[in-house]
Amino acid sequence: MRRTATVSLKFTTEAKKDQLATLAEEYQTIVQEYIDIAWQDSSTKLNKQSLALIQDSTLSERYKSNALRQALQTIINTKKSAKRLGKLVSKPIFNGTMILDAKFVKIHLDKANHFDGWIKLSTLSRGHRIWIPFKRTKPLNKWLDKDFTLLNTIRLRQYHGNWYANLVLEKETIVFKTEGQVIGIDAGTKKALSLSTGQHIGDNYRYYIDKIRRKQRKSKNYQQALIERDNYLRQELNKIDFSSIKTIYVEDLKNIQRNTKKERRLNKTTRKILSVWVQAKTFGWLNHKCEENCVLLSSVVARYTSQACSRCGHIEKSNRIGELFRCKKCSFTLDADHQASLNILSVGLGHLEFPITKAA
Ligand SMILES: [Zn+2]
Repeated sequence: MRRTATVSLKFTTEAKKDQLATLAEEYQTIVQEYIDIAWQDSSTKLNKQSLALIQDSTLSERYKSNALRQALQTIINTKKSAKRLGKLVSKPIFNGTMILDAKFVKIHLDKANHFDGWIKLSTLSRGHRIWIPFKRTKPLNKWLDKDFTLLNTIRLRQYHGNWYANLVLEKETIVFKTEGQVIGIDAGTKKALSLSTGQHIGDNYRYYIDKIRRKQRKSKNYQQALIERDNYLRQELNKIDFSSIKTIYVEDLKNIQRNTKKERRLNKTTRKILSVWVQAKTFGWLNHKCEENCVLLSSVVARYTSQACSRCGHIEKSNRIGELFRCKKCSFTLDADHQASLNILSVGLGHLEFPITKAA
């Protein structure tokens, strides 16, 4: 698994900052030129012919090759995200973040030094490398303490006039826990997540969603509200006691999308708010937390998790009314999301039919 940590490069001397700026400027220009070329001619590949299409650059062949690679990747990513959002794709503008691997950078951690680490970086001058100091940050130390190793790969970017490097850390394999609780988690509408233990994560979720709705789309306040929602959800995930858990079952995302449509348990607006995209994000963060804590996160395919009774198995749409679940057959009553998480757990453990079917 991989993690990243951002470090500031503000301790760099002015002379080095100038060299960095010159390199970045030229690099940015060339990436954009390659994007223009590849956009015109979709057969453009990472090869000598394509590289030779730009001649008047101060970049080394190695940097040029990297710039072409990044240009092609930028186009691929732009097309992918346009497709996902169902939008028309337009030619991307390079954002200026240089992705550099071991051909250009070497990272040294030196405890004895005043600064905590150095990035050795190739510049525009052939054979000339500059040493850029950085201080170790809390997140970086956290990963290093958890036996992650630094890769010689960085994302270099300028933000508000300062330089930052995104460092990449890697840990080989995760040994999942063999002892601990097994739980199910349901992604709901009022609470972000409901656990089969009865715990709810993100009780105030709706407050953040409503806040987003009140803002004008794409305004600065709207963006701020999105960030607030994300921060809230991420913080809330810390309330789960991962130390006591070995396995978590969640509903498969594609499955949720399909079921939501079929069961129509949510009205159109709610579906929009709770877009599968936000759930994917939340599950992504949950997955990170699980990896860090050696917890196995497994997704199950099931239907009617919100309609089936976790006690007697009876499935009926009217079992669920809003936030309350009350079985028409056995009168079992529980919070609807908690009840759904119990069904997800049962399917995960193999106690229920796979998938739950209405014929049961
Ligand atoms: Zn029942």
